[in-house]
Amino acid sequence: MSELTGRTAEELGAAIAAGETSAVEVTRAHLDRIDAVDPAVHAFLHVAGESAVAQAAEVDRRIAAGEKLGPLAGVPIAVKDIIVTQDMPTTAGSKILENWLPPYDATLVRKLREAGLVVLGKTNMDEFAMGSSTEYSAYGPTCNPWDTGRIPGGSGGGSAAAVAAREAPLAIGTDTGGSIRQPGAVTGTVGAKPTYGGVSRYGLIAFSSSLDQAGPVTRTVTDAALLHEVIGGHDRCDSTSIDAPVPPVVEAARRGLTGDLTGVRVGVVREFAAAQGAEPGVVAAFEAGVQTLTKLGAEVVEVSCPHFEYALPAYYLIAPSECSSNLARFDGVRYGLRVGDDGSRALEEVMSLTRDRGFGPEVKRRIILGTYALSAGYYDAFYGQAQKVRTLVTRDFTAAFEQVDVLAAPTTPFVAFPFGSRTADPTQMYLADLYTIPSNLYGGPAISVPCGLSEGLPVGLQIMAPTMADDRMYRVAAALESTQSPRLADQTPEVTA
Ligand code: GLN
Repeated sequence: MSELTGRTAEELGAAIAAGETSAVEVTRAHLDRIDAVDPAVHAFLHVAGESAVAQAAEVDRRIAAGEKLGPLAGVPIAVKDIIVTQDMPTTAGSKILENWLPPYDATLVRKLREAGLVVLGKTNMDEFAMGSSTEYSAYGPTCNPWDTGRIPGGSGGGSAAAVAAREAPLAIGTDTGGSIRQPGAVTGTVGAKPTYGGVSRYGLIAFSSSLDQAGPVTRTVTDAALLHEVIGGHDRCDSTSIDAPVPPVVEAARRGLTGDLTGVRVGVVREFAAAQGAEPGVVAAFEAGVQTLTKLGAEVVEVSCPHFEYALPAYYLIAPSECSSNLARFDGVRYGLRVGDDGSRALEEVMSLTRDRGFGPEVKRRIILGTYALSAGYYDAFYGQAQKVRTLVTRDFTAAFEQVDVLAAPTTPFVAFPFGSRTADPTQMYLADLYTIPSNLYGGPAISVPCGLSEGLPVGLQIMAPTMADDRMYRVAAALESTQSPRLADQTPEVTA
């Protein structure tokens, strides 16, 4: 393995800018690494080797010409396959979009390219981002580099596994109910969900539009902040995009690395501690993490968020409802797959054959559930009720942030589980997002940072902050990371093909 694949994105960017290495060399090192380990990991659905080297050469040319590029210029990145890319197929992990080539780049992809980042390829995911293990990908699962018999989390398991296995120093994920943070936690990487609207959703294939948010997947908190600054900011192509400057996240991460949290108030959610089902090893690692925050000077207090226990059921009405509407666009006419169009069948029949073949079981389950929850006669009892719970969860956050600056919680109730252990009963899979869903309902930023091991597998600690206070969560997360030497993300065991 090249020494280059062990470096952080920040280090790589600096080395490229200083002429110590080139973007092409760094890109080739990561492509070689993908060749070596991806047969065992299966993080990628598409690797764009040639175009990546060409992009890297262009960055080297711009640097040689004296152009001033950003701190991540020349650094390779992997992008979750739910984000559209003009020069690469985009499947969202579904057969219904197999071989579909989007006609445009998502805003965040355009921003990556403008900042000189090199897109290596597209990463595996649960179909349409519905799942917590990447086992619902129509293209086969991704393996956790810590133990290839276990899941890498989901839905963005490909992005997290690629970063953990050093196939890419950076990746992009999307988080509707935890899909950046939960894979981060179980692969020992950093996953950050920015404030809803902080990163443009233009070009993100919609699952649940009021919850979907793209963000960074990295091995260090500073790398996440650097990437956040590249992709964040207002976009007039997304009507829910926030028209305000990106919070000073890089500055906050650097401040956090000094290891001083004097004056920072951290709330631990009482109802989470009381919830059943968290593994003792996860609870122990989380508690040790909280103790570390105290040692760094933070004031830790218990806070009550009484409605958090209803967040999971509310999410599983709101997200399927929105998905039943969003996925109506996959009709066999406009995009991708079309089945049975032999001239003998009516449009509706072609549509139904296409959806039957193109969508997997979890996606069908959600569409049916959501259609039911939105139907006349049931709307008030299900969707309407869930929206009321969403308001109550938001009020819990608002009340908590009057007492504390950030909230801390475990990211997940359990470590990476073995393949197949939670697919028989969907509700067992849904539990993986018990702790991540509240901040999606609220819209605030949240980050998962490694905080230790349980039974030899990574555990994540989650920091949640008020909307637009993304900088606060980076500061606290970086402070925690500063106490770890070596960092957990630098200890991923070697994967053998
Ligand atoms: N696991 C959750 C779900 O299945 C969250 C997915 C996500 O964040 N995209 O809906």
